[in-house]
Amino acid sequence: MVICKTIETLQYQLLKEKKNNQRIGFVPTMGALHRGHTSLIELGIQQSVFQVCSIFVNPTQFNDPKDFEKYPITLEQDTLLLESTGCKILFLPTVEEMYPNTSITNPKTYQLGFIETILEGSARPGHFIGVCQIVERLLAIIEPNILYLGQKDYQQCMVINKLIDLMGMSSNIELIIGETVREPSGLAMSSRNLRLNELDKQNAAAIFKCLQYIKQQITTLPFEQILENSKQNLMSNGFSTIDYVAICQADSLEPLNIYQPSVKYVALIAANIGGVRLIDNMKLN
Ligand code: AMP
Repeated sequence: MVICKTIETLQYQLLKEKKNNQRIGFVPTMGALHRGHTSLIELGIQQSVFQVCSIFVNPTQFNDPKDFEKYPITLEQDTLLLESTGCKILFLPTVEEMYPNTSITNPKTYQLGFIETILEGSARPGHFIGVCQIVERLLAIIEPNILYLGQKDYQQCMVINKLIDLMGMSSNIELIIGETVREPSGLAMSSRNLRLNELDKQNAAAIFKCLQYIKQQITTLPFEQILENSKQNLMSNGFSTIDYVAICQADSLEPLNIYQPSVKYVALIAANIGGVRLIDNMKLN
């Protein structure tokens, strides 16, 4: 695996592959890698794609500066993991490389529409602008054929899909969304899990159990009651605050109140335990 710290060296490496008609896959990450991340690298390897992974803890997507400061960094382990998974290039840029001049303080605006206004959008103001800033820059630098994202960040996948559309790159970049990889308890793997103590980690599996409960009950109980029971369950399992428990239309993320067999639903949860904010989701039908 080649490690590139500058755009210039990365593009030099990529050009060699592109000249050989090698399809380029790209997995953007913020590091502290786990099997969720490597599953995305593996998806590309199965498709004979030349996999590029970036590790960059993007400051502009953290609405809470403390969350940014505490974000786990395990670079040595990450490098070994990527190498053993078969990743071909690790892109490790600096903040100056990704945000030249004043672009860090003067973000562009993105016409993302409704999806930017709800759930993560309302709980974390400015978060998706930061995500779009960094992903737009990475896509413009790498110009991958395939972008691999995880369903774990359901709304982020929708935002990036919209961003690719706004960049006019929908016909050049295929978006592949990998399934959420979980701990045996059901807890979605997340870099932030490293900050949980053992007890909180066990209790955090309540998010997955709530999602399963919602899936089981969606055709039988009123949504309001399902959501209320879920919130109570999270609180009784040690969660301190709940940003949202929502049942939404799967393609638009519009919150819905009643069950209709013809509609596709997704349940989404964001909640805090032990000072760590966790998110997860599940398609319901
Ligand atoms: P992050 O490093 O958290 O920014 O995540 C980088 C990519 O890995 C995103 O596309 C995430 O959705 C994806 N990802 C994170 N956790 C998981 C997981 N447990 N299973 C599958 N993909 C994941």
